[in-house]
Amino acid sequence: MSMDEELARALAALEREGLLRTARRVDGPQGPEMTVDGRRVICLCSNNYLGLANDPAILAAARGSLETEGLGAGASRSISGTMHAHRQAEAALASFVQREAALLFASGWAANLGTIQALVGEDDVVFSDELNHASLIDGCRLSRARVVVYPHNDTDRLAEILATERSRARRALVVTDAVFSMDGDRARTAQLRQLCDAADAWLMVDEAHALGVIGPEGRGLCAADSVVPDVLMGTLGKALGAQGAFVAGSSQLVRFLENRARSYVFSTAPSPLLAAAATRAVALVRQADDRRERVLAWAARLRTALAEQGWDARGEGTCIVPVVVGHPDTTMRASKGLFDRGVFAHGVRPPTVPAGTSRIRVVPMATHEERHIDRAIEAFAEVRAELRR
Ligand SMILES: *Cc1c(COP(=O)(O)O)cnc(C)c1O
Repeated sequence: MSMDEELARALAALEREGLLRTARRVDGPQGPEMTVDGRRVICLCSNNYLGLANDPAILAAARGSLETEGLGAGASRSISGTMHAHRQAEAALASFVQREAALLFASGWAANLGTIQALVGEDDVVFSDELNHASLIDGCRLSRARVVVYPHNDTDRLAEILATERSRARRALVVTDAVFSMDGDRARTAQLRQLCDAADAWLMVDEAHALGVIGPEGRGLCAADSVVPDVLMGTLGKALGAQGAFVAGSSQLVRFLENRARSYVFSTAPSPLLAAAATRAVALVRQADDRRERVLAWAARLRTALAEQGWDARGEGTCIVPVVVGHPDTTMRASKGLFDRGVFAHGVRPPTVPAGTSRIRVVPMATHEERHIDRAIEAFAEVRAELRR
């Protein structure tokens, strides 16, 4: 069979199972309302939590950097790619999360793969929450360490597993999302820190969905819980409105990653304009208590209102409101019903979430207005009636 025939079969199978993905087209910038497939809709599926993806001050910082430093970094950081903007962003990020040092990566994906792979290897063990993000899962796999998956947020079970598994390995690393991206709940960072200390294990926390939104100045969940992880990963593409990621921790950690994280060493440095945008974004985020309050209030309101309508709305204390529907086809029908009513809310299916738990992931932004939220709640009620017909 030719490659195209083979792939056409695989795609047809995905389509039959309701799992084929096609992306809608967005014209113009990200925002609370957007033009999607030619229609003006309320966007409820972006991680642009604080509405900074199109913020004038951040755009100005990027433009300024473009004028002085140009577009491309030209090479990896260790060759000729470490520019003024990178150093500045790393200093701003380290100070933001109150750690000694930070290191930029091209994406959160690259940061997780490179970091886990650098920290652990064949003689080691990684303990990973079953609902961790795909990039953490792939980082674990790539590391060749023994991977032990523990039930979601089950710190009692993790304690038992650590007791039997820890001593057989050289290094031990516990990895977790801070806010679980598809479930909208929080990790138990204080318990995890205690377990790690007791078992001589390192703690890595992925703050992708917490940074900017949770904690004092938006410093993330660990800061909110007064926990210091050994490795803190944060992304620049979500609440910070740009693109890229960083790992923060001790200066030893950062120096080590500069030498051993393959996704850092063997990859062209991010454009300096992204680093400059991130530096500006950090300054804005630190002062954005009003935006944080607003986005969390919208999420709480959506969670309550949709539950009252009978939807299985989950999550808590985060701005992610997963509405679990179950079957992928029904989920996509609900998502389409919402879109037809001017509400863009994305359906999430396996393998992003476990089979039987397809869901609509509802995510407000700080820049939404009351009328947007009211309209979305109304649309959900209409779609619910339609699905039950
Ligand atoms: C989005 C996300 C990533 C990946 O970050 P990118 O910068 O988008 O590559 C990693 N971890 C979690 C938990 C995420 O949600």
